[in-house]
Amino acid sequence: MISLPSFYFMPPNHRRCLSCRKVAPKEEFLRVVRLYPSHEISIDTGMGRSAYLCPNPNCVQAAQKKGRLSRALKATVPSEIYQHLLQQKQGEVQATQPELY
Ligand SMILES: [Zn+2]
Repeated sequence: MISLPSFYFMPPNHRRCLSCRKVAPKEEFLRVVRLYPSHEISIDTGMGRSAYLCPNPNCVQAAQKKGRLSRALKATVPSEIYQHLLQQKQGEVQATQPELY
């Protein structure tokens, strides 16, 4: 039995936070999308290349500071997007439904 480092482990429908690399069901994350084909940046809706962040100001700010979101999406992420992300779900802990596999 070979034990792999935890970051290799990705259960179905789970995503990883760009900042802290936490893995959780994708519903728990903020989703940032570079829309196809307009390349506009959108939060939570739309089709295209997407990246995930914890609904946690620390993760959002770290992603902004290190340009991780822009790099992941291969697009410039306007500061308004970060403002929106910081306002989303702040202080509000959502009870997530247990998922059955
Ligand atoms: Zn995080």
